[in-house]
Amino acid sequence: MAGIRILKDKCVGCKLCVGACPFGAIVMIDKKAEITDACTLCGACVSACKFNAIDFERGAVANAVDVSKYSGIWVFAEQKDGEPESIAYELLGVGRELADARNTALSAVIIGSNLDDACRKLITKGADKVYSVDDASLEKFNDESYSGIFSQLIYKNKPEIVLLGATTYGRSLAPRVASRINTGLTADCTKLEIDPTDGKLLQTRPAFGGNLMATIVCPNHRPQMATVRHKVMKEMEADESRVGEIIRPEVNIPRDLVVKVKDVVKTITEMVPLTEADIIVSGGRGMGDPKNFALISELAEVLGGAVGASRATVDAGWIEYSHQVGQTGQTVGPQVYFACGISGAIQHLAGMSSSDTIIAINKNPDAPIFKVANFGIVGDVMEVLPLLIKEFKSALK
Ligand SMILES: Cc1cc2nc3c(=O)[nH]c(=O)nc-3n(C[C@H](O)[C@H](O)[C@H](O)COP(=O)(O)OP(=O)(O)OC[C@H]3O[C@@H](n4cnc5c(N)ncnc54)[C@H](O)[C@@H]3O)c2cc1C
Ligand code: SF4
Ligand code: SF4
Repeated sequence: MAGIRILKDKCVGCKLCVGACPFGAIVMIDKKAEITDACTLCGACVSACKFNAIDFERGAVANAVDVSKYSGIWVFAEQKDGEPESIAYELLGVGRELADARNTALSAVIIGSNLDDACRKLITKGADKVYSVDDASLEKFNDESYSGIFSQLIYKNKPEIVLLGATTYGRSLAPRVASRINTGLTADCTKLEIDPTDGKLLQTRPAFGGNLMATIVCPNHRPQMATVRHKVMKEMEADESRVGEIIRPEVNIPRDLVVKVKDVVKTITEMVPLTEADIIVSGGRGMGDPKNFALISELAEVLGGAVGASRATVDAGWIEYSHQVGQTGQTVGPQVYFACGISGAIQHLAGMSSSDTIIAINKNPDAPIFKVANFGIVGDVMEVLPLLIKEFKSALK
């Protein structure tokens, strides 16, 4: 049974625990700490007490597994039309570092149809092994069949870590698999590393609206599962000389599916997709009016880039959600990011601060965006953008 109590003889009444409790569950009575019914047994107060005055017992964990039976790092290699998506390579990049730190193998799991070329590419990008489930019925992503197959592979092979992209497909697949195999899942990680003291995966992600970073561990269940945001991890350079093993595992392919994917309709756009763009020109509320976004599109077009937007403009109906950059939009990491009339709220920064170069245009010299910008232009977007468009047009002629 889990439990917590204050050791009154040790408590000196310093109140450090009161500030450390996120649930306001500690009160001071007669200069001694008291735990109230609001306590959730989160354990956060224990390390705050410098006097060892908090006795905390976590209790037995339901369905804990023997973690020593699990080894190897796996990444789910998302593909479309038999071609791995760039998120698969990014996962291999961070997976390679984790595998080297754990001195174990890095495997990619790919599910689809006509995958031979893809398997080879995954090896050149860092995989030691590729589990390829190749069947014509699996050509299009389907939550039900893909999660069934992926769960079978995990059950049989017992990897210690499984990573998926925090993409539309990955976000749908990961929780289904985690619940089937009865393990935890940390969503939207921005940093992954191995704890050198015990080999566990330290999974870091923004929490409380991006105001702090939380590091999460999965101590008693395996595999340790995480989804990782696109464009946060770096791909390895392809190495054509790398050799690896391609495994075609025997699995039961679910055929009697409740949901059948009849067709996949691709969005047709002349512009570069936001998450793949090397240059992004983003507009915020400071653009003043939806029609002024024409300047954003024009600059993006001149530079061969994509159009981004703040949530304020998306909420106002100025532009579609697919353009939103930030915590509740897309995460991007272009070479150059133009923030035009964007204040630089923390939720916006969460989606673009890993850009190589940030150029901000804002009429308020104290706007927070200037704190992350490499270059700042204090001025009116309606005056600055036409000048930039003119200059770039003539320079790129
Ligand atoms: C849970 C949660 C999730 C969120 N997720 C996101 C997210 O994913 N993405 C996101 O962007 N936001 C997100 N937000 C909203 C975020 O907090 C901000 O409200 C939003 O980013 C503000 O958008 P903005 O910078 O365009 O507008 P404002 O904050 O209104 O900033 C407008 C800026 O334009 C400048 N300006 C005005 N006129 C001009 C001019 N003529 N020329 C130059 N500059 C000018 C102003 O000085 C100001 O700095 C989220 C909020 C919450 C609570
Ligand atoms: S931090 Fe420890 S010593 Fe200080 S009030 Fe809390 S329980 Fe008592
Ligand atoms: S265990 Fe968590 S909720 Fe309970 S008193 Fe300590 S910090 Fe507060």
